[in-house]
Amino acid sequence: MIPKLRIVPLGGLGEIGKNMTVIEYNDSIIIIDAGIMFPENDMLGIDTIIPDYQYLEDKFDKIEAVLITHAHEDHVGALQHLMRDVDAPIYATPLTIGLIEGKLRQARLLHEVDLRSIDAGEVFQVGPFKIEPFHVAHSIPDCVGFGITTPVGLIVHTGDYKFDHTPADGWPPDFAKLAEFSERGVLALLADSTNADKPGWTPSETVVAEGLDEVFRNAKGRIIVATFGSLISRIQQVADAAVRHGRKLAITGRSMRENTKVARRMGYLTIPDDLLVDIDQVGKMPPSKIVIMATGAQGEPSAVLGRLSHGRHRNLSIQEGDTVVFSAHAIPGNEEMINRTINRLYQRGADVLYDQIARVHVSGHASREEMKLMINLIRPQYLIPVHGELRHLRLHGQLGEELGIPQENIAVIENGTPLELTSHSITICPRMPGGYVFVDGAGVGDIGWSVVRDRDKLAQSGYYFATILINKGGDLVGSPEFITRGFVENDAVEALDEGATEAIKRTLKNAQGSDQLTLKKRLQESLGRYLYEETRRRPIVEVSIKGTSG
Ligand SMILES: [Zn+2]
Ligand SMILES: [Zn+2]
Repeated sequence: MIPKLRIVPLGGLGEIGKNMTVIEYNDSIIIIDAGIMFPENDMLGIDTIIPDYQYLEDKFDKIEAVLITHAHEDHVGALQHLMRDVDAPIYATPLTIGLIEGKLRQARLLHEVDLRSIDAGEVFQVGPFKIEPFHVAHSIPDCVGFGITTPVGLIVHTGDYKFDHTPADGWPPDFAKLAEFSERGVLALLADSTNADKPGWTPSETVVAEGLDEVFRNAKGRIIVATFGSLISRIQQVADAAVRHGRKLAITGRSMRENTKVARRMGYLTIPDDLLVDIDQVGKMPPSKIVIMATGAQGEPSAVLGRLSHGRHRNLSIQEGDTVVFSAHAIPGNEEMINRTINRLYQRGADVLYDQIARVHVSGHASREEMKLMINLIRPQYLIPVHGELRHLRLHGQLGEELGIPQENIAVIENGTPLELTSHSITICPRMPGGYVFVDGAGVGDIGWSVVRDRDKLAQSGYYFATILINKGGDLVGSPEFITRGFVENDAVEALDEGATEAIKRTLKNAQGSDQLTLKKRLQESLGRYLYEETRRRPIVEVSIKGTSG
């Protein structure tokens, strides 16, 4: 048998978020990234979603390394779950390690995990794999992609990247390394597809510096900039703007404070001590002398900006003359929450700026021209689009075709679809079952889609519960008892009783002789249909059948 390399995407393909890829040769496995995804707003009560790594369940002992590209949540957020099962070192660059440490400490795992610091440009061996991290520019410093020399050939994984010649940390991408990989011959390229539908080039981070300058020039009162807690590059830019315009900087929001502390200590954030002020001090300072950085750019009600918009922050409130800047893109699904937050901020007298009306955010991901450059630099035999919804992966694949990669050498696949590579072939294997693991409060994986769907229905239409008594002949005895919650007003429910009873009687007649389970199902269906016809709502319908001895 010819030894094959298996690449199994477990997350990030077919969605934006929870990136995780398995690379497997014989008895050796390495994992690239282990991220989370934030739930869409119709997944009620779910905190986070982690990759479904059932595939690894009988292979945990074969895992030799976990490689991390950078410290964004969609790449590291699942480590505190994964590392309970996996006993292998994590390899990452210094800043990434620093930020992972905080997470593991919180999960009380820090002392059980072997963290190994690596630098872009170094080479190390893990089992049969020679690993070469290379520097890429993105929206957090110290990002890498990986060149992985396997027994069947060289694989290049870009991580999240854009070709920014003037990034916020002044460290442009390593073009030379990419060219060198190309010279050695690349078997497969796994590349970021996030912006496959954006023409041209993604603007450089310096554009944001200019945009912020304009905001700082025009703002009369306080400035509040909201972004992600992990967008370290943006924190640097706001700090720089504060210096240029003579304002002091207050940082609020737990994750952002924590990340800032680590990045400053490690030298990845340059913020002079005397620039920073405590959030309690803000009230005593002239509004024109202060800028506040906060979390909550996705409209999350529990983050700083969300609390401000509701007037529920402990030591801060929005006042007339404040300028609030959303310096982040909307994660699909969050637009509604963001818009509500913006409206509330306006109501409280703030002026609000976001990326559609001011250059206060640029994407951290390559647009189409950059993606072409990556493909042309690397010239891979096989192209595997990663990090994107299916439409992004498709478009990325088409781009590859336009650049001369034969269609049969492009694998547009989603999570759970293994690829098998030899030095001259690629095979797409059947997709494995699985997908989401929901993290709900303290529990991991103990609830599934059906629970989420039920919560969704409950929230939208409530529930309707019927208890009926039947005799041995299968006929209704007495009147059914109906209990509802969150469905319609009480008198409206009573008005439905007669019709519901009729529906039950009809179904009992038609379902004579059915077993208990079928009968229950048919009763639920007919009641559901009746309730929908009457109210245009679909509550969760539950029927309890009790038998009499008579
Ligand atoms: Zn990222
Ligand atoms: Zn990402």
